[in-house]
Amino acid sequence: MSDKILVTRSALPPIEEYMEEIRGLWDTHWITNMGVEHEKLRQKLRDYMGVEDIDLLANGHMALELGMQAMNLHGEVITTPFTFASTTHAIVRNKLEPVFCDIDPEDFTIDVSRIEELITDRTSAIVPVHVYGNVCDVEEIERIAKKYDLKVIYDAAHTFGTVYKGKGIGTFGDASCFSFHATKVFNTIEGGAVCYKDREFGLDLYRLKNFGIRGPEKVDAVGANAKMNEFCAAMGICNLRHVDEMISKRERVVKRYRENLEGIEGIRLNPIQRNVRSNYAYFPVIFEEKAFGASRNEVYKELWRNGICARKYFYPLTSMFECFHDKYDADQTPVALHVCKRVLTLPLYPELDLENVDRICRIILQCRG
Ligand SMILES: *Cc1c(COP(=O)(O)O)cnc(C)c1O
Repeated sequence: MSDKILVTRSALPPIEEYMEEIRGLWDTHWITNMGVEHEKLRQKLRDYMGVEDIDLLANGHMALELGMQAMNLHGEVITTPFTFASTTHAIVRNKLEPVFCDIDPEDFTIDVSRIEELITDRTSAIVPVHVYGNVCDVEEIERIAKKYDLKVIYDAAHTFGTVYKGKGIGTFGDASCFSFHATKVFNTIEGGAVCYKDREFGLDLYRLKNFGIRGPEKVDAVGANAKMNEFCAAMGICNLRHVDEMISKRERVVKRYRENLEGIEGIRLNPIQRNVRSNYAYFPVIFEEKAFGASRNEVYKELWRNGICARKYFYPLTSMFECFHDKYDADQTPVALHVCKRVLTLPLYPELDLENVDRICRIILQCRG
């Protein structure tokens, strides 16, 4: 019996590298509140991601939540329900109203042809998600935002390292929020970042992540505590050295999955996007029960029975969460509803060996009976 295969596996640097990186902290005893590691990682990330400016936070959720707060939004925000809980929660926790737009049937990002019909005089922003690492139609979103004078904050949690038309994905929109959670392509154990261009926004965000403190005797915003500590920043500095190699290894795994599953009746894969250098973050598969011969839930059960812990990302839609008490109607986003009932995200991490990829695919194909 082989060991369980989880959907992902956190990247760790060689332990000696990490020890070396944190050694200095024992000299200074400065272990949080924007110390040397924080600033070092911030600059390295700014270069790596090719963005104008970036601030580091305690996690990706606070990047979204405080990013929206610093943007001074009001009223309604157009977003998608096919995402992780964090996107919608960040909107609602800012006392904003999420207005759910349907997703593109091919790549599951926001369906830009449906945004304009959802805009009202109360709309203040669009919060699109580069879901699974698929890049949104950033040009069309920018056109709409300009036309209606809306802010754009991307949930870029899945697109660390992604490049679109030669530009870092964090350069699009008014702000792009990243997650450096242990399960993501690049991790700082827990962590997140907001990429932005506007200096005033950056100062507001910096203040908000530190309780709204402006100076020793001045607190002029109701902030939170969302600072990245020095141990997390040090982990990021080490992991960043290896991230390109990790992405290449992910690419091998994804290519192997595609070789096995492309063209199979009843299975749909995301298209390979043009002009995108992918980070190969996730590998979602859609099972159309009739054509494939087995349902998503049957495939899921069979994989788990074999110790392969694929996940139903993203099911249910965030608009269906119990905490919202049927306030939103999932039938308003029929494509998202269709996809969430049929999607399975397969195990994907750099060290996943190709024999196991083949085995996972064999088990999937055998579900057809
Ligand atoms: C992981 C994730 C987040 C939240 O990031 P954390 O670092 O876990 O707080 C937000 N949005 C999406 C789409 C995510 O996958």
